[in-house]
Amino acid sequence: MSDDIVICEKCGAEMKPLSDFYPIGMTCPNCGWGWATTYIDPINLDENDYRMILVSSENSLSNIKLVSETANCNYVEAKKLIEKAPVEIFCGKAVEVKTIKEKLEAANIEIRIEPEFPY
Ligand SMILES: [Zn+2]
Repeated sequence: MSDDIVICEKCGAEMKPLSDFYPIGMTCPNCGWGWATTYIDPINLDENDYRMILVSSENSLSNIKLVSETANCNYVEAKKLIEKAPVEIFCGKAVEVKTIKEKLEAANIEIRIEPEFPY
């Protein structure tokens, strides 16, 4: 990201980046004029936090390992999480949630995402 100030060529207001996280374009907070430098998948602009809830999982070593990675805890704690499901195991941005969701679903771990996950 650069610190250069970009002035809106329509109204002269200072323009703001479209996203705080990705250098993808600028928008004018005053008149709405702007541009995107590249096409960005809307999931990358989604700044909501999504909660991932483990609904049910087989208590197998591979699943415990996955849950421990997701919840960032050790295997003993991961096993407890599986036993007390449904339980929240992750909270984060859509991009991260999508990656984790695909991994967990591939392992037949049943999860639920709140709020509703549109991707
Ligand atoms: Zn403007």
